[in-house]
Amino acid sequence: MKRKPARRESILHELPPDVAPGEAEFIEGFYRWLKATSPNPRRIGCPGKLALAELVVAESKFEDAYTLKHIGECAACVDDLTELRLEYECMNKVSK
Ligand SMILES: [Zn+2]
Repeated sequence: MKRKPARRESILHELPPDVAPGEAEFIEGFYRWLKATSPNPRRIGCPGKLALAELVVAESKFEDAYTLKHIGECAACVDDLTELRLEYECMNKVSK
């Protein structure tokens, strides 16, 4: 399934089903806040999709402090990260 990089107002429907109670609201709130304060449409300082893909794959042992910090300040990268994570999960489902 090919997804368009559509403008999203919510990421709730993209969260994993096992997300902790209250966590979805937290993530949603953070995402809305980020969208409002740091939409970064010009992608200033973005580490690029490759770095984000590495984060998706690495999860626990990701050590790129710049990328981690940047994602917390850039709604555009959160969008990309959500996209990549979904793709990664789809791939895992297929291979299992
Ligand atoms: Zn960014």
